[in-house]
Amino acid sequence: MVAKPKVAIAWLGSCGGCDEAVVDLNEALLDVTNAVDVIFWPVALDFKYHHLEKMTDGDIVLSIINGHVRNSEQEEVAKLLRKKSKLVLSFGSCACFGGTPGMANFRTKEDIFNWVYRDAPTVVNPQGNYPQVKTKVDGKELTLPAFYEQVYALNQIIDVDYYLPGCPPPPDLIANAVNAVLQGKLPPKGSTLAPHKALCDSCKRNKTKPQKIAIKELKRIHEIEASPDICFLAQGVLCLGLATRDGCGAVCIETNIPCRGCFGPVEGVKDAGAKTIAALASMLDVHSDDEMEKAVNSIDDLAGYLYRFSLPVSTLKKRRV
Ligand code: SF4
Ligand code: SF4
Repeated sequence: MVAKPKVAIAWLGSCGGCDEAVVDLNEALLDVTNAVDVIFWPVALDFKYHHLEKMTDGDIVLSIINGHVRNSEQEEVAKLLRKKSKLVLSFGSCACFGGTPGMANFRTKEDIFNWVYRDAPTVVNPQGNYPQVKTKVDGKELTLPAFYEQVYALNQIIDVDYYLPGCPPPPDLIANAVNAVLQGKLPPKGSTLAPHKALCDSCKRNKTKPQKIAIKELKRIHEIEASPDICFLAQGVLCLGLATRDGCGAVCIETNIPCRGCFGPVEGVKDAGAKTIAALASMLDVHSDDEMEKAVNSIDDLAGYLYRFSLPVSTLKKRRV
């Protein structure tokens, strides 16, 4: 019998939604598991790291890795899978860009520890204990992974072959990616296995987007009764579809919520936030510094809004201290 291609699925720093998305393949998951030998998927079955360590290098045809890297265990697993795999797919927006946990890069590690273990109103920690990498308890040494100074996207830690963004990636793109690997029909290394155009290009509301948008003040979605048919920008609501990669099926727009950019920057754009700022500057109808300040301040947490999914791979990368 011909051996089936070996596939690993790993969860680094993420919420678990990307693993859920694999399960959301529904009955197509049975086709996938018939076609491949899943040799590592800790969220679903009991696999151990030492099983992986014993494998021959390159024996795994595809490792699908979701989540960012923020601690030494995540780095170790990422590097181990890289060594054992022919192909690595950076799966989901946390792996591809750092994702929403990447917004922690606006704070230092010290800020985070102080809040979580000392200053948050619900914390009771009279001894001022903070997590330690090594702790002696009853003469035994206990260890925890080291928490890094910042969040990293997967390709800042290991070499990545392909990217599939999304929070989480939708089932049709997952099935296409797996089929492309099984059929050997992959695009050049480094490609993103999702459409190359912007979300606006496929959005049903695009025909209502005016040629020239003139916004004096941006509104948040809960501040207006939004029309379900008109482009959000025409309603004065910031929608990131213009700089975001297509591929999600416009699920937020369909539920009358503007795009927040989870698919990451559209092909050719390196910095999603900077691109949106540039687009925004051309849309704002302001004629003085005061008007400009008012317009910019009308967005609560502008940096967080623009870099919600992609701060670690942006030009900023993290807060400088
Ligand atoms: S800006 Fe948003 S609502 Fe308008 S066309 Fe683009 S994706 Fe659709
Ligand atoms: S509309 Fe935007 S935020 Fe919503 S799923 Fe699509 S890319 Fe992500």
